[in-house]
Amino acid sequence: MQGTDHTMESQTLEIADLTCRFGAHRALDAVSLSVGAGEFVSILGPSGCGKSTLLRSIAGLEAVEGGTIRIGGQSVDGLRPRDRGVAFVFQSYALYPHMSCAENIAAPLRMSELGPLGRLPLLWRLSGRMRRTRESIADRVGATARQLQIEPLLGRRPAALSGGQRQRVALGRALIREPALFLLDEPLANLDAALRNRTRTDLRALQRRIGATTLFVTHDQTEAMAISDRIAVMFDGRIHQVGTPDEIYRDPETLAIARFFSQPHLNVVPAATLRRHIGGATAAGDIRIGGAALEGMAGVVAFRPEDASIRTARRPGLPGLPCTVDHAEHAGHDANLFVRLADGETAVVRIRSHEIADWPQGAEGVLHFDLDAARRFDAPQGEAET
Ligand code: ATP
Repeated sequence: MQGTDHTMESQTLEIADLTCRFGAHRALDAVSLSVGAGEFVSILGPSGCGKSTLLRSIAGLEAVEGGTIRIGGQSVDGLRPRDRGVAFVFQSYALYPHMSCAENIAAPLRMSELGPLGRLPLLWRLSGRMRRTRESIADRVGATARQLQIEPLLGRRPAALSGGQRQRVALGRALIREPALFLLDEPLANLDAALRNRTRTDLRALQRRIGATTLFVTHDQTEAMAISDRIAVMFDGRIHQVGTPDEIYRDPETLAIARFFSQPHLNVVPAATLRRHIGGATAAGDIRIGGAALEGMAGVVAFRPEDASIRTARRPGLPGLPCTVDHAEHAGHDANLFVRLADGETAVVRIRSHEIADWPQGAEGVLHFDLDAARRFDAPQGEAET
């Protein structure tokens, strides 16, 4: 193992109908998810939706009310956390402050291979078997540290490390047991933006090299898109959609998911408003939005600011909506332009582009948007269809 990465025997994870309750509150409501061996899946959702509870349930740290969890095809229901073959990395890293990094990384092995006696240095010296075990643990700590490029830090205590370095030590402590499954609960949350980006790239590269099946919790959709094979989107204790980053970005199944993936803004216009005001098509009855006919369409149409544009005059043959410029916001390399549709019924529509900075307030134009990229959804509850 020395000098090379250790590849793990990847395991599958299957969760079926997992339910967990805190009093009257259902933190997990019949959650089902399958993760392939070696796959990296993110659990993405807003604060309080149940992401940590799901991870803790898989690790055996939370008592579940119903459902099953299988790792590598074997049920782990009823098994103690340490017998499940999973490694958990917490947002806080939970390192032992009085131990060096080497001791922190070695801690899980010392507990499992030497047992409580491993804490007694005198006995180590007296027992040849313990000495050999201790040497093999030291070798494994060295190999793990090389893999994470933290060898120079091994003698330091956690207080003498940066956030990124602590995070690597916590990963090392998880990695050393060669777990069947990695559970990472917002492990990058305490890092600043630049370090966070770099560390997520490193984390993904490491995961690919060792092939560990990984569940990664985050509330940051950009992070989930960048790092995952697949994303499971969670709201209110339920998984609403599972797919590749591209599938979810292009084809969100609900308006809530579309909004979550279009931060800070998604334009939402009632289909009836579009029907009334859109003009410029050779035949208005032929307009298709996201592949469906606008004629007779109910609900709302959503499109992203980057899929919208404004022109001074309607382009022949291209459907567009008359609009008035409300205000513009410069945003560095591009700008946001906020326009109101001529009908006065719809909230402002945001357009994002390089070419719009010169539009004065009150100017009239025509709003175009990419009809293929737009999607229709049922109207949100409480929003009337006009
Ligand atoms: P965050 O992103 O803020 O960490 P989360 O998606 O991980 O949130 P959980 O920590 O899983 O959410 O919590 C889900 C829900 O269950 C929340 O409403 C939370 O208040 C509740 N909850 C979690 N743990 C407990 C507990 N031990 N007792 C009571 N309620 C709890």
